[in-house]
Amino acid sequence: MEQFFTRNKKETEKLAKILAKEILRMRGKTKNALVFGLVGNLGAGKTTFIQAFARGMGIKKRLTSPTFVLMKKYGNLYHLDCYRIKNSRDILAIGFKEIICNPQNFVFIEWAEKIKRILPQGTIWIGFKIIGKKERIISFS
Ligand code: ADP
Ligand code: MG
Repeated sequence: MEQFFTRNKKETEKLAKILAKEILRMRGKTKNALVFGLVGNLGAGKTTFIQAFARGMGIKKRLTSPTFVLMKKYGNLYHLDCYRIKNSRDILAIGFKEIICNPQNFVFIEWAEKIKRILPQGTIWIGFKIIGKKERIISFS
C-alpha cells in the first residue's frame, strides 16, 4: 500500500494529475479496462481526484458529479457514483460488464465498496480519509 498526505485541494489535484500521466502509459497494454475503486466519506475528495485525473489525461470537458445519473462518459473515461444505488444489479443494468472489458477504458467508481462483488480482481483501490479541515490521506492498494 502506498500512502500520500495532501494539505489542500490543490495538492490532491496534483497527485491525481501525476498518477494520470503514469497510468496513461498502461492504456491498451492491459487485458481489460483499468478500474479504480474510490472509497471515503462525503467530502473526502473522490470527485476532486477524478476531475483532476481526467484533466491530466487531457480531457478538456469539465467533469460533473454523476450522483444522480449513476454514470458519465468522457471519451474512454467512465465516472460512476454508487452512492444512491441499492445493489450491484443497478450498475450491471447500464452495461458495466462491457465497459470493464475494453482495455482502452478507464473506469472510476465512487462508493465502489457497494459493488465490490462485481469488480474485477485487479481493481485499484484508492482510499480517502479526512484527517483535518483540509488534510487528507490518500492510499492506493
Ligand atoms: P467526495 O466526492 O469524496 O464527496 P468532493 O471531491 O466532492 O468529495 O469534495 C471534496 C471537498 O473537500 C471539496 O469541497 C474540496 O474543496 C475540499 N477539500 C479540502 N481539502 C481537500 C483536499 N486535501 N483534497 C481534496 N479536497 C479537499
Ligand atoms: Mg463525489
